[in-house]
Amino acid sequence: MRLRRLTTAAACAALVASLFGATTAQAAPVPDGLRLIATHESVLATHYWYTQTLNGHTVLGGYYARHVDKATDAETIDDGRVPVSGFAASATPQIAASQAAGAAPGSIRRNELAVSRDGKLVYSVVSDAGHGSVRTLVDAATGSVLSSESLIKNVDGTGRVFSPNPVATLQNENLVDDNDRNSAVPDSAYKSVRLTNLDGSGFLHGSFATIIDPRGQQARSRTNDFNYSRRSDFFEQVMSYYSITESEKYIQGLGFNDVNNEPQDVTTTGFTDDNSFYDPEVDGITFGTGGVDDAEDAEVIWHEYGHAIQDAQVPGFGTTIEAGSIGEGFGDWWAMIMSAPVQRDTAVTPLACIADWDSVSYTDTTPHCLRRTDENLTVADFNGEVHHDGQVWSRALFDIFNSLGRNKSAKLILESQFSYRPDTTMAAAANVTVSMARAMFGARDARAVTAAFHARGII
Ligand SMILES: [Zn+2]
Repeated sequence: MRLRRLTTAAACAALVASLFGATTAQAAPVPDGLRLIATHESVLATHYWYTQTLNGHTVLGGYYARHVDKATDAETIDDGRVPVSGFAASATPQIAASQAAGAAPGSIRRNELAVSRDGKLVYSVVSDAGHGSVRTLVDAATGSVLSSESLIKNVDGTGRVFSPNPVATLQNENLVDDNDRNSAVPDSAYKSVRLTNLDGSGFLHGSFATIIDPRGQQARSRTNDFNYSRRSDFFEQVMSYYSITESEKYIQGLGFNDVNNEPQDVTTTGFTDDNSFYDPEVDGITFGTGGVDDAEDAEVIWHEYGHAIQDAQVPGFGTTIEAGSIGEGFGDWWAMIMSAPVQRDTAVTPLACIADWDSVSYTDTTPHCLRRTDENLTVADFNGEVHHDGQVWSRALFDIFNSLGRNKSAKLILESQFSYRPDTTMAAAANVTVSMARAMFGARDARAVTAAFHARGII
């Protein structure tokens, strides 16, 4: 047995060497200017990791590793030292560490002198402004910021979701909640999807969504696989993470890097009412669990995300009834925009019908809809209730969607919203949108946009 083990180890020593593709030697001396930062034991070898230093300062990006085979003591070197040229050994900082810290966002985690890859003496400041650690390099001679990079690592995982919801997927208006039972919805309503932008913590935390649970019950997976059925409270967490992340990815794909480009806080088991809300004070979305759990319907998630989008674009958006109505209308329309590529637009489940699944709990007629974006309402029908009056706005946007197409209409509305006032009237917001359409796409599209608002009596 012992002989056999040795033979195996010898064979594997060669494998270790070939894996690292580096030089193998017996106990080579460690070069000067290296600082040991970690030692790891694997089955076959001991791994020594060093950081490169110059005048006692870390050289950013420089590394050096020794992999020592346990059986043979054969040593494999991986030399990743940066050839720093132009660094003046006499270089001393001309600005104070506190000045460098002041140039970094948020609270400071670490601040140390270092040598950049191009040979400059810099302050390497690691800080956190609420979106994970960021490293800012500040020139120690001039105080100017040389670079800023996120240290967050994004990973992909898998998830099981409704997309957008079981009623639309199965074309079945007869589904019922049945008290959150798994048996109420057949397996064929679920889709397996890739969860992107996860931060690798094992929680549903990522670049664009952070699931929080006041009871401390959060889905967690070491392998980033989040496959649940609807009865599990974790299912709604996956639904929210996925739907919001896909929505923000779509926005960024349209060219907007500053529309709620942050991890949106979401709570899926906040309360038992059949309602959900966006709270601008804490920038958080909360979904209720009355009737069908609200976060089982992606269209409800996208509606609430619509509020987060607008609040990110215009601080405090929606301070009047008309502005608030625009908020509700936009949320419904945004749900439709996001559903357009994942649901079939049929007589059973029209695209204009919002929240086909959530609404089975509180509507008797079919198709079950929370609201629709194709109602024939005008400003003459206003009754002062923002969700109702919002249907005038969402119908105008629905017509714009049909004229310009999905991407152009989404781009137009997002771009326009940056210029809406928090207390805007519908007429003012419509005029901004028409001007923007002319600037972005020309007179022909501007005419179509004008016609859509005109048909609602808005302008
Ligand atoms: Zn709303």
